Amino acid sequence: MRILIVEDELKMATLLRRGLTEEGHAVDLAPNGEEALWMAGAVDYHAVVLDLMLPGIDGVEVCRSLRERGVWAPVLMLTARDGVDDRVAGLDAGADDFLLKPFAFAELLARLRALVRRGTAERPSVLEVGDLRLDPATRRAWRGDSEIALSAKEFALLEAFMRRPGHVLSRLQLIEHAWDYAYENRSNVVDVYVRYLRDKIDRPFGRTSLETVRGVGYRLREDAA
Ligand code: CA
Repeated sequence: MRILIVEDELKMATLLRRGLTEEGHAVDLAPNGEEALWMAGAVDYHAVVLDLMLPGIDGVEVCRSLRERGVWAPVLMLTARDGVDDRVAGLDAGADDFLLKPFAFAELLARLRALVRRGTAERPSVLEVGDLRLDPATRRAWRGDSEIALSAKEFALLEAFMRRPGHVLSRLQLIEHAWDYAYENRSNVVDVYVRYLRDKIDRPFGRTSLETVRGVGYRLREDAA
């Protein structure tokens, strides 16, 4: 495997490189986020080992930028801090796994193997359908440059549609996604919320992206401005 290590502390970086090289991997070192972004744009890495604490742009920001640039290599984040907030920010930015320093090298290798097994399919953290965008982490949504204010239920419904663009979703599927089991099953609640959604994501923009498929359910399709 070809692995990129992003770590500013020379001792740790050298240790990682030696260990991974001994395991037969090709290893490149980036001492900061800027170089990491440049290198990951130039080479298809099988995995990235990314330290959270970096000078300049930190690991969370590096990870977010990688995903924004369409780099989907698995990212294993290293952190000396055991703060939950850091891990949440990292995962929301598109990291795949975490390892707290100090760690056993055998565990680092095992986690890398597990990540690489899962592959490098596109896993965007921000969903996009046409010029609709939705960020599940910050719970914000936009049509083009306009931010759209959505209630929790509207957001959940839109997320369900944006995870399956072009697919017809039945009322039952939509209820299962956006309402919990305590909800008393009334399928017309979906129709009501689809109407709310259209009033926010389509009508003000002169669009008709959220379609009714008679007798089946609803479908979100990409539509041009
Ligand atoms: Ca560091």
